[in-house]
Amino acid sequence: MNDPVIEKIMQLRNQLRNKIVIPVHHYQNQAVSSIADFLGDSYKLAVDCSKSDAEYIVFCGVLFMAESADILKKPFQKVIIPASNADCPMANMADLTSVNEIFNKITTLAGTDVVPIVYMNSYADLKAFCGERGGSVCTSSNAHVIMNHYLKQGKKVLFFPDANLGMNTAFKLGLNHKNMILTKKLDNYNDEQVILWDGFCPIHKRFTPGDISVLKANYPGIKIIVHPECPEEVTAQADAIGSTEFILNTINASPAGSIWGVGTETIFVDKLFAANQNKTIVPLKVSECINMKKTTTELVLNSLININEHIASNGTIPLMNIISVPEIYKKDAAAALNKMIDIVTNGLK
Ligand code: SF4
Repeated sequence: MNDPVIEKIMQLRNQLRNKIVIPVHHYQNQAVSSIADFLGDSYKLAVDCSKSDAEYIVFCGVLFMAESADILKKPFQKVIIPASNADCPMANMADLTSVNEIFNKITTLAGTDVVPIVYMNSYADLKAFCGERGGSVCTSSNAHVIMNHYLKQGKKVLFFPDANLGMNTAFKLGLNHKNMILTKKLDNYNDEQVILWDGFCPIHKRFTPGDISVLKANYPGIKIIVHPECPEEVTAQADAIGSTEFILNTINASPAGSIWGVGTETIFVDKLFAANQNKTIVPLKVSECINMKKTTTELVLNSLININEHIASNGTIPLMNIISVPEIYKKDAAAALNKMIDIVTNGLK
């Protein structure tokens, strides 16, 4: 049955032609995903958005992602988020004042170069903090490349806000607990190379080793694949660990009959299930991100109607839900985002 809201979106999209582009994060629901110009995880969306020439970027994701699009956009472009209250609890776990305090403390303690690395899941002021200090943004698909880039130069890294991603990334690079310390334990600092902010994603923190045991008992031959935002007790028992894009590609490429237990956001797991009917795909447990669910096709339609009216009125009707990163952060935040892209694509030394 045709969905009247999606039909209206398609009509408006035709009318607006190449003036709009709709990037959609993998965790968005199926209806919103069906209207995507491109789908991706936060890294892929940041890169794809930066290549678009559409005047209006209608970003279906959460606020920090739309901010990144705003930082990397061309001067004539505008970024609009249909769900203006789509926040991220993890991004809210680090603030500029606290990060600055910890950075100064660790720089004094370490007595050497400390470079800040901020996960994409953060707000523009913290990305700017990194850019200003020669640091970089990272995503779950490239955190190991970014962290390794600095460690091999003999630098120490302050990684924030997600401790699990930082820890799992350090493990991937061959480090162990002796090489890392949480910022809340800095009074016991003992020359650790990786300093981890104590933030987490509530969605991925819910998974436990017990969830894996249950699946292994119920599905003989099952393989466990999890996101690196999961706690180390979970990643230690997984057959594969990787970003959303990695999970997508790995499961899509697996042979018919494969059995997967997936430790990441539930809406995304449901979409994997729908797209891989010849495989068995089960979540470790149900764990939905309510903020990702805030974007609906109705809200996207509202944004397109507003853009259309804005254009037809020669700008008299204002645009709603525009993302506008303060100018004081833009240059340095762009430096941190571009450093990530340079390190990943060009192997920046
Ligand atoms: S899944 Fe986790 S990190 Fe992603 S938006 Fe939701 S709370 Fe934030």
